[in-house]
Amino acid sequence: MEKLVMDRVSCHVTERCNLRCKMCSAFIPKLYELGNVPEYDMDELIKSFQTYFELVERVRMISISGGEPMLHPRLAELLEFLLQYEERFTKLEVFTNGTLSIPEPVLKVMAKSEKMLLFVDHYGPEISKKVDEIKELCEKYNVRYTIRIYYGENAHMGGWFDKSFLKEKLSEEKAKEHFSKCVSTNMFTIFGKELVYCPMPYEGWAIGAIPRSDVLGVRLVDEETTLEEKYEKLVELCNVEYLPGCAWCNGVGIYEDVKRYVPAEQVKSKK
Ligand code: SF4
Repeated sequence: MEKLVMDRVSCHVTERCNLRCKMCSAFIPKLYELGNVPEYDMDELIKSFQTYFELVERVRMISISGGEPMLHPRLAELLEFLLQYEERFTKLEVFTNGTLSIPEPVLKVMAKSEKMLLFVDHYGPEISKKVDEIKELCEKYNVRYTIRIYYGENAHMGGWFDKSFLKEKLSEEKAKEHFSKCVSTNMFTIFGKELVYCPMPYEGWAIGAIPRSDVLGVRLVDEETTLEEKYEKLVELCNVEYLPGCAWCNGVGIYEDVKRYVPAEQVKSKK
């Protein structure tokens, strides 16, 4: 079994969030509305990454996101665990929305590696009230960070766009076209025990917009399948022609002049 080389892997540690952004790409407000807001078990996430590194020799980028990752009480443990694979990744980024302080254990573990970067999304002084404090903390603890401005005239990417799922499934041909043009392919993402090719179909399934059969993934934590079987499934996944989920999705960067929306605009009723 020759281990794989991958470009990136993301991991949602929790779907809990203290914001309810209208155009949230993870559909967090909808998850709250449905009362289905998973916080992934840390032991399970660690086991998933353990299996991941038994299958994958090198990955360029690991992204830790959610939800708001700072809400997971055991985030530092996952980062500490991943440090043992430091030679096998190029960069590890942790996302936060600039509304919460960064817990000291997270700062301490992130300071241990130059490969770890805190990505602070700044939604303006009314929402991301902790950005200055986060900057000070990062400087104090020697954590590398970057601030991505999502407000004002020069908002990153010109703002957010609508990632809602399509009401009617596209033809296979059109889905293939979406897959070939989408700049979001290869976004392998870990949700709990499972590694999926792209987070969108999984998120669509979680909010009831897509059938489960249209989500392609490998169960990393599963005693019923051997490592070899997981490997074969992952190789198969890496070579798919398209994802069935692309038939429900307008993708990223496929269409020009897509309407932009004010980032992080909050829904009115917060459940
Ligand atoms: S079109 Fe949608 S489902 Fe397909 S790869 Fe792009 S983001 Fe993922």
